[in-house]
Amino acid sequence: MDLFEYQAKDLFGAHGVPVLPGRVATTAAEAEAAATELDGTVVVKAQVKTGGRGKAGGVKLAATPAAAAEKAGAILGMDIKGHTVHRVLVTPASEIAEEYYFSFLLDRTNRTFLAMASVEGGMDIEEVAATKPEALARVPIDPLDGVDAAKAREIVTAARFPAEVTDAATDAVVALWDAFVGEDATLVEVNPLVRDGAGAIVALDGKMTLDANAAFRHPGHAELADVQAQDPLEVRAAERDLNYVKLDGQVGIIGNGAGLVMSTLDVVAYAGQRHGGVTPANFLDIGGGANAQVMADGLDIILGDPDVRSVFVNVFGGITACDQVATGIVQALEILGDAASKPLVVRLDGNNVAEGRAILAQAAHPLVTMADTMDGGADTAAELAAQGV
Ligand code: GDP
Ligand code: MN
Repeated sequence: MDLFEYQAKDLFGAHGVPVLPGRVATTAAEAEAAATELDGTVVVKAQVKTGGRGKAGGVKLAATPAAAAEKAGAILGMDIKGHTVHRVLVTPASEIAEEYYFSFLLDRTNRTFLAMASVEGGMDIEEVAATKPEALARVPIDPLDGVDAAKAREIVTAARFPAEVTDAATDAVVALWDAFVGEDATLVEVNPLVRDGAGAIVALDGKMTLDANAAFRHPGHAELADVQAQDPLEVRAAERDLNYVKLDGQVGIIGNGAGLVMSTLDVVAYAGQRHGGVTPANFLDIGGGANAQVMADGLDIILGDPDVRSVFVNVFGGITACDQVATGIVQALEILGDAASKPLVVRLDGNNVAEGRAILAQAAHPLVTMADTMDGGADTAAELAAQGV
């Protein structure tokens, strides 16, 4: 998960990285109030998860609260590389003496961590790397040793930071490593890391990517998610621990096992070409233990998608046998009652398939059609979706 600048800098601050105080504003009036509170010249900064905000006009100085309101009014609603600005960060303006670059990242190619640092900060680091590679120090970090003061000093020296900032930069680098490891990040980046007018080192910008695989270790990280930018169905599915991805078609898909679901998307897309061009509405893998509640949760999410015209349930019975899955479907339809309103095509195969089909035949739910094969089921589901459009 990528964070906004203000979130990254909050976490930086919590780990002892020098940052300036800031206020997040969603309206010009809030920005004005923030500038009044901070007192003095401020910077109004677009909060979007992309770089190059400065060049795009998303970072502006404001000498008075009235100017902050005006700049915020101009920046809010702006489109920066396809990202709409919904909030701005209002923060005290620094006097910049020098701009440096610093990052820690997971170097997948070399299977280790990497520190990158340069005195050519502020600008596009990709450009520095391409045109002046000698100006970008790259120092591998042994994950078992980590970064202590000595290692931090080695990095800062390799990047040829000026002697008068070496101590302060070393402290900042140790604190950034603490943030990187402590928050289970795969990236922390500061561009620019500045030497200000008073000679202090400050992280003026902040980028951070958190490792979603470590989310269970950080209950606080969940509230950093940008729910506004997420699909509401995906948010609901995530709350129920479902592996659901919204797509833009009309045929809802439920299957067990990511591979089976992926191939189900393919056969439905092919079948859709014969039926008015309908396509899959989602990816949903209900996994191995497809009990009634999981099936009901999955169906509930899919039927809550206004684009869905039909649903294809494609399950291969394994450890959870077909009779249990069939019972799950029947119970799920009972749980959902009138909320189940769209035709379901069910294809079962594998362990206890005969028993599973018998249970569905016995229930004879008016919305359920049984299919013998995956291709046949996909075709029927696509046809029903095309009729429903
Ligand atoms: P980015 O363009 O998205 O990377 O946004 P940054 O936060 O890095 O800001 C872009 C540029 O705006 C920086 O490189 C600085 O030159 C400038 N800037 C940002 N904050 C301040 C500040 O407090 N004072 C001054 N004078 N310039 C700033
Ligand atoms: Mn930057």
